[in-house]
Amino acid sequence: MSVISARKPVRRTQSPLFLANIGQLVTLRAASDKPGPRRGLHLSELGIIRDAAVLCMGGKIVSVGTTKDALRDLWLKKSRRKITEIDCAGKVVIPGFVDSHTHPVFVSPRLVDFEKRIEGASYEEIATAGGGIRSSLEAVRKAAKSALAAKVLTVLNDMAAHGTTTVEAKSGYGLTVESELKSLKAIGEAASRWPGTVVATLLGAHTVPKEFRGCSQKYVEIVCKEMIPQASKRKLAQFVDVFCDKGAFTGEETEQIFVAAEKYGLPVRAHMGQLSETPLWPLLRFSPASFDHMDHVNEDDIPRLARRDIVATLVPGANYFLGLKEYPNARRLIDAGVPVALATDYNPGTSPTISMPMAMSLACTQMKMSPAEAIVAATVNGAWALRLADRKGSIDPGKDADLAVFAVNDYREIPYWFGANHCAMTLLNGVVASGN
Ligand SMILES: [Zn+2]
Repeated sequence: MSVISARKPVRRTQSPLFLANIGQLVTLRAASDKPGPRRGLHLSELGIIRDAAVLCMGGKIVSVGTTKDALRDLWLKKSRRKITEIDCAGKVVIPGFVDSHTHPVFVSPRLVDFEKRIEGASYEEIATAGGGIRSSLEAVRKAAKSALAAKVLTVLNDMAAHGTTTVEAKSGYGLTVESELKSLKAIGEAASRWPGTVVATLLGAHTVPKEFRGCSQKYVEIVCKEMIPQASKRKLAQFVDVFCDKGAFTGEETEQIFVAAEKYGLPVRAHMGQLSETPLWPLLRFSPASFDHMDHVNEDDIPRLARRDIVATLVPGANYFLGLKEYPNARRLIDAGVPVALATDYNPGTSPTISMPMAMSLACTQMKMSPAEAIVAATVNGAWALRLADRKGSIDPGKDADLAVFAVNDYREIPYWFGANHCAMTLLNGVVASGN
């Protein structure tokens, strides 16, 4: 699988980078060699090193340990003048967040939907009244690719300032062959100007556009026979996603789209169970990388997921912003052994936040995940959900130099101080970006 990542970043640091005096280095090194995403008790393993140091070179992590041990290293002693040193002064360093579910290609916020919802309108009522996903379509269809790319780049930079170093970005607000491909190209263009890592996903099956209302099958054919083949041939997407729910696409249509994705060599993921329950088992044969939302899950599907590496990606920002009282049952999933990830679901309608610390805070307070589980879900398991776990999600020698420095003394403060940005610095593939 190829991943779009910046090959010509604005300021790639070539000189080695030495981060020292880290109060808590949350390496997320696994205590066991068990392969696959973290589940159950392994979701709490943080591998913390106190008074730690990390050496990075050429965009990779080279060594990890205590500051004391690092300073004894002969090579480091000899090369000190060539090394850029960053004194972390007791701060907390974690792997950069992997935000594995975002929809950044849109033009305007949806403020009318926001007000209508406050007045009591439901998701479906807003959609029927012409709001919702469909109201973002016209502006995206009209927008120039460069304008969309500029929007996406602004968001990526904002995300980096909050500690995110890897982002999955979906199309899905064009819903014509031309505008979906344009959206994917805009993601690629923004990614080439950002030092972090971006994974592009084709979400042509976001909703049925009004031109196809009552004949959704015709639209599914366009997704399968035009969007997927073209996105694959031009290498514009690494995944195909489907919004499978009432008012969007059925389980059968999702299968049809997955068959097309498989035919063209693209792995799949899906929005499942946000508004209603759809049986997951017919989709398991496609080995999706993740099922996202998962507010409504059939009890019989839970043990099936626990036996596989399919990540359940929970996006509590959407529940918060929709004002829902119910959140996905994270404890049920975790206790059953299902690997769980956290993402922002950044989008203009239901989750306009780029903040992974906010998603973690909601996971802790509303879904009863521990701060340790929230960190693992926001990093390592996000990397698994994007099939990037060999390079991302933990602080290990050989992995990409993706780090987030937080101006706090204890990792639990990251979800604790909700609503404020305490990220002081981010390292994206070895490139320094300042945070707050
Ligand atoms: Zn989504």
